[in-house]
Amino acid sequence: MRTVGVLALQGDVREHVATLENLGAAWRTVRRPEELEGLDGLIIPGGESTTISHLLVTSGLREPLEKLIVEGLPVFGTCAGLIMLASEVIDGRSDQWGFAALDVAVRRNGYGRQIASFETPIVVEGRGTVPGVFIRAPRIVHWGDGVSVIATHDHGDGEHPVLVRQGSAWGCSFHPELTSDVLVHSLFLDALQEALR
Ligand code: GLN
Repeated sequence: MRTVGVLALQGDVREHVATLENLGAAWRTVRRPEELEGLDGLIIPGGESTTISHLLVTSGLREPLEKLIVEGLPVFGTCAGLIMLASEVIDGRSDQWGFAALDVAVRRNGYGRQIASFETPIVVEGRGTVPGVFIRAPRIVHWGDGVSVIATHDHGDGEHPVLVRQGSAWGCSFHPELTSDVLVHSLFLDALQEALR
């Protein structure tokens, strides 16, 4: 059985764990560097990217995790987690940093502030429709050629990617963990399984 880590420094950790449980996946929360050992993939939850970036440093996780991601550890970031994986953050705080695992520029709160939160159906081509919960969500405003766009959303100004993948790194603007739909997590788990084959 493969083990998926859920970075548990801040954010909606329990919801990701519940989704992994629903899928029958083995999981482990990660708060300390030694808990990274032997993981087959890692989820970076939604929450607050400035806080997560700060706690990654104070917990000592930043460096070992950076190394694992460069070596190809499958990672999946939702919302704040996507911000942590982006190569460029617009409207970020000056002291926030990221893993730059996805060649995308994201605008923090690019769909509006808390009050502008919304839910909308998101079509994952060939796989079905998932409920997309957007809460102070980052908007992907630029993306490189190496980025596969898996799903998009038109917020009134054209389609923008909301679920992307580049190699073993996955990012999602919305929060699949906040609904009972498991499709997005299952795509990541399938890819992780594939990578280990
Ligand atoms: N806007 C938040 C941030 O910058 C992300 C919001 C979320 O994860 N729901 O981290």
